[in-house]
Amino acid sequence: LKCWKSVWLECWKSLWLECWKSLSMKEWDIPYDELKLFEVIGAGRFGTVYRGSWHGAVAVKLLHVHSLSDHCAQLDTFKHEVATFRKTRHENLVLFMGACMKPPRLAIVTSLCKGMTLYTHIHLRKDKFTANKSVIVAQQISQGMGYLHARGILHKDLKTKNIFLENGKVVITDFGLFSVTKLCFSNNARGDSLGIPPGWLCYLAPELVRALRPHASLHLPFSKCTDVYAFGTVWYELLCGEYPFKGQPPEAIIWQVGKGVKPSLANMQASRDIKDILMLCWSYRSSERPDFPHLLSTLEKLPRKRLARSPSHPVHLSRSADS
Ligand code: ATP
Repeated sequence: LKCWKSVWLECWKSLWLECWKSLSMKEWDIPYDELKLFEVIGAGRFGTVYRGSWHGAVAVKLLHVHSLSDHCAQLDTFKHEVATFRKTRHENLVLFMGACMKPPRLAIVTSLCKGMTLYTHIHLRKDKFTANKSVIVAQQISQGMGYLHARGILHKDLKTKNIFLENGKVVITDFGLFSVTKLCFSNNARGDSLGIPPGWLCYLAPELVRALRPHASLHLPFSKCTDVYAFGTVWYELLCGEYPFKGQPPEAIIWQVGKGVKPSLANMQASRDIKDILMLCWSYRSSERPDFPHLLSTLEKLPRKRLARSPSHPVHLSRSADS
């Protein structure tokens, strides 16, 4: 009788848990018909982003995953990543508002970022970031990333294209969606070739580069340390205004990063402290990379040139690199 009772209790427990899980997911389920889609803001590897409206201005990322509906496991991955997304509330992270979770309409709805991405500032507009401005931006990125990591969430795709600047405030987007978006990447890869999206490689830590295989992007060994490596590349872009290994073919970058060869910093006009941060983030051994709280305190301790505004006023970026 005792045994029967415990089985019965276990059944109830798991049934209750499932109910609770699906109820809490429902809270975030946005019926596709409730969304208004306006113009396309941009298209990435895995989805098209629209300016939209849902109780106000939003950004809607419609995923290009037509085959997803056929695969329960993949839909579960999507739901799992949505569940991760909804746990985030931080001023340096884009606000997740909900998701359309009924295939074939899979979409992520977030607040609409008003500024430009760091990528646009650095690589398209060629805006110059002084060391002071770079430090302010890097501190905010570290704050947002430190929060994500403290909640057990990996970004997996930290890059300047996923970091907005809104009136001097950093807003990080696209976190935690890598697995589901990479599903279509692996579906798209032809034969045994390895599809490398442009600008992706230089964010990959040596352990990721060494694990690159055709169709294996879902199983890459992402970790907090690989996010820190990617942050190092963002730091480099802020300071140098270009990508590391600029102009080199993917094969050369893969070989160098995989072997632990770092881009030369000889021409980088920055203090020793600033270069040290870069070298630490880009450490070959993942265990030697600092974590984000440590990075934040290092950045806070960097000697700064006198800032134009008094410390009692919020520090904004100058017009050249501000949005
Ligand atoms: P990839 O897909 O390779 O990561 P990407 O980051 O450019 O490239 P998306 O994340 O799909 O691709 O974004 C496409 C475009 O939509 C980009 O120009 C991006 O700046 C813009 N975008 C994404 N999210 C938002 C948002 N919340 N608010 C405003 N614009 C956004």
